[in-house]
Amino acid sequence: MIDVFIDLETFGKGSDAMIVSVGLCAVDIRTGDMKAALVRHIHPKSAEHFGGKMDGDTVMWWMGQDSHARNKLIDNIKTSGMSQGGVIGEINTFINGLAREAGGVENVRMWGMGPSFDCAKLTAMYTRSGVDVPWKYWAENCVRTVRRIADNHERAPKWDAQPRAGTHHDALDDAAHQANYVSLVNRWFHQETDIWLF
Ligand SMILES: [Mg+2]
Repeated sequence: MIDVFIDLETFGKGSDAMIVSVGLCAVDIRTGDMKAALVRHIHPKSAEHFGGKMDGDTVMWWMGQDSHARNKLIDNIKTSGMSQGGVIGEINTFINGLAREAGGVENVRMWGMGPSFDCAKLTAMYTRSGVDVPWKYWAENCVRTVRRIADNHERAPKWDAQPRAGTHHDALDDAAHQANYVSLVNRWFHQETDIWLF
């Protein structure tokens, strides 16, 4: 089994939100070992061409973010922004490679923050390009649900207490942080109960 955490940076919040950055972090969820990572940036012109929608609130939100995070995103798009189709091809190569190593696509679990965000919006982006996602729809899981469960247990590792590496709102750094956290909760639960959550 391999667990792949997705984080998106977008210029919108709707179901057809324009995606400009995709971070993927593959982890062994029982050891916390990072197995592979991919980050790709999509040029907004290409995202727009395929029907990705910007919204004013999200643009204002980005304008209010820390200048380091904001400048990093802009630099990444300017220096390595790709076409949406090119990014889809690279994500497929990445996930298909992980699936082969894990013994089949049924052994790939996907994670996003919330049921309506990362997995759903990336799937919608694929749909706008007329391409199927390389994972099974039933393999999607939610980081936020794990966080809520841990919040309800006094001794469980808390999301807010975890040290943060990298840049907040950098797609790859956010995906790695989420992978680390869920793996930490998984190991904590196993230590307490001898049962693996995941
Ligand atoms: Mg993020």
